[in-house]
Amino acid sequence: NHLALLDYSERDTLTGLLNRKTFDASYFAQPARGEELPAGLELRSAPRLRNTWVGVIDVDRFKSINDRFGHLIGDEVLILLARLMRAVFRRTDGLYRFGGEEFVALVRNASASEALKVFERFRRATAAFSFPQVGRLTVSVGFAEARGGESPSDVIGRADEAVYFAKAHGRNQVHDYAALIARGALEARANVGEVEFF
Ligand code: GH3
Ligand code: MG
Ligand code: MG
Repeated sequence: NHLALLDYSERDTLTGLLNRKTFDASYFAQPARGEELPAGLELRSAPRLRNTWVGVIDVDRFKSINDRFGHLIGDEVLILLARLMRAVFRRTDGLYRFGGEEFVALVRNASASEALKVFERFRRATAAFSFPQVGRLTVSVGFAEARGGESPSDVIGRADEAVYFAKAHGRNQVHDYAALIARGALEARANVGEVEFF
């Protein structure tokens, strides 16, 4: 019963996905690039940070779904989206609900093009799915590579910028933060951790 309660607190009660608190904890449990694994952690339970991608998924125009169909139908959409995530991503990928209509997928052991492929697959699967009563809806996705020695909010911040870019350019899109920087579509983010405010 105690173990069941522990598991419960790691998960979002609506969708059963992992919650943000769990994301922060598992992120810190991973060794930075090139570092030794923390004592007591096995490779299997702490995959290396190298080639880990963090994707932020935000439902497009979700407020209008609630406005038109009510919160209960909105909640059902979130449950169905979580199910689509489980179908599209690998078992070894971490799937999270960050609250509201925002989801995060942690894709491990992938190249940039493999990460793009899986996030695109999720975007397409969502756009092709017929949601009961609601019909069609879309998601915008931004993703970024996890770097050693940074906090979870740093990588989430980069992925968020790629999401904003997708929102500002028509929604129903997937963008790689680094690719946006490389083609000059975004300006590199100041690393907040290195900025001295006082
Ligand atoms: P955008 O395409 O710019 O993302 O538009 P949006 O309407 O999705 O974005 P916005 O952030 O303005 O609205 C998100 C809405 O999500 C606001 C709120 O009504 C709804 N919402 C947040 N949490 C929940 C929830 O747990 N259940 C339901 N049904 N709705 C929620
Ligand atoms: Mg949102
Ligand atoms: Mg939204």
